[in-house]
Amino acid sequence: MRVNIAENIEHIRASLPQGVTLIAVSKYHPKEAVEIAYSVGQRDFGESKAQDLKTKFQELPSDIRWHFIGHLQSNKIKYIAPFIHLIHSVDSFKLLQEINKQGEKVGRTIPCLLQIHIAQEETKFGFSPNECRALLDSDEWRKLKNIEIRGLMCMASNTDDNQQIANEFNSVKALFDEIKEKHFTSDDRFDIFSAGMSDDHKIAIEAGSTHIRIGSDIFGPAHK
Ligand SMILES: *Cc1c(COP(=O)(O)O)cnc(C)c1O
Repeated sequence: MRVNIAENIEHIRASLPQGVTLIAVSKYHPKEAVEIAYSVGQRDFGESKAQDLKTKFQELPSDIRWHFIGHLQSNKIKYIAPFIHLIHSVDSFKLLQEINKQGEKVGRTIPCLLQIHIAQEETKFGFSPNECRALLDSDEWRKLKNIEIRGLMCMASNTDDNQQIANEFNSVKALFDEIKEKHFTSDDRFDIFSAGMSDDHKIAIEAGSTHIRIGSDIFGPAHK
């Protein structure tokens, strides 16, 4: 199967409502694949391994906005702290503290999303809605001056049941609205709801996603 990266991107872009950002997930794909996407104007890219991301950052144009979307280990934050555009996958307060520490070292305020665990699979990471509420209620996070919480991220269950996927996305969007109202009323920068991948991004957009993360529909199947 031949994959036409440029055509795939144009096709997805044409279907996106205004205000939805397309993140091209280039994990496990070579830098040449990123270059093709870049050549048709794509600037937001996502990776799930800190070292791979650092390597691509060094090899590719500097105006690319790099998104970290995988499970992040504390000892890997340093690879991406100097330049990362947005970390989507903060799944503990401890990780947030570590990102803050690395942000301080490099003199940056690092934009972060809290990942919400909503899917049925145990394998997925993230806060439960109540853990997320407890974190934000405690106000400890407000003392962290080198991170900035910009919104929520989630992954739906891996299922063919579109109604279930819609219910999951809608429940995280409701949590997003609740949190915005309670903790960020006077702060326009809590404005990102990262939801939707190749198979479910249409459903996610219906639910109010602002950032979709598309890998295989752009680059074809990934080989780890
Ligand atoms: C791999 C990955 C994606 C992209 O998945 P596709 O199904 O290939 O579009 C999106 N989000 C996360 C968190 C991922 O790990």
